[in-house]
Amino acid sequence: MFFYTHVYYARKVDKNLNALKVIGSIIPDLAGTSIITWDNLHKEKDILNFSSYVKNFHPAFNSLLKGINYHNTVDYLSHVKYKNSTPGYAYTSSTKELIDLTQKAYNVTHERAKISAHNNIECGVDFHILNDHPQLSEFIRDSIKEIDMEGLAKLIAQYFEKSEKEVIDSLKIFFSFATEYDLRNIDEWVKLFVGLNKMYLKTDSNKELTRKVLELSVELTKDTYKEFIETAIATKDTKIKD
Ligand SMILES: [Zn+2]
Repeated sequence: MFFYTHVYYARKVDKNLNALKVIGSIIPDLAGTSIITWDNLHKEKDILNFSSYVKNFHPAFNSLLKGINYHNTVDYLSHVKYKNSTPGYAYTSSTKELIDLTQKAYNVTHERAKISAHNNIECGVDFHILNDHPQLSEFIRDSIKEIDMEGLAKLIAQYFEKSEKEVIDSLKIFFSFATEYDLRNIDEWVKLFVGLNKMYLKTDSNKELTRKVLELSVELTKDTYKEFIETAIATKDTKIKD
């Protein structure tokens, strides 16, 4: 899922939410900038290793771990298993029409289009949640301002053996997704996805078709996103899963 779904979830399940937990609830997707891999903060073994590193060497960042746990609870339902069936919500909600359209819009293989189609479904959910709760936007901005960004960059750089400068640049790009776009509007999602696809998939997207893809995703999720997020909030099982 994207930022707003994750942060909405964190707000609902945590009465003592703080800025670091908010950032933790979105940070695993820093992988979208390629500075870390998708496994690094999404897979159980990797998360447990990272957790013991933070607890031992950067205990001031312990709250970040709680947020990462929230992130993966939502992702599990979206990717792996939802309401006792597999795969998760974002994959079962992807239709053939959406996958075919995504393939054309993003100039990717059919296999890659299936993965991107799930991202589009997640964007549909995010779009609805942000439009229902526009205050989330300011809330994320405030959390980004509040945390010790330099400390976070140092921690990530050390653990993943990257240069601090590289990590700071990636964090800037990553947080700009939340601060530079008004994602209550489809046009802004189009801009974001065209940029993301260029950076991450190294493809040039067709703007018109990308808009169609995102409109279809908003349509495909409009009757089910509420149930999805309510189901996630009701899940008390927060054990870290792959
Ligand atoms: Zn994720």
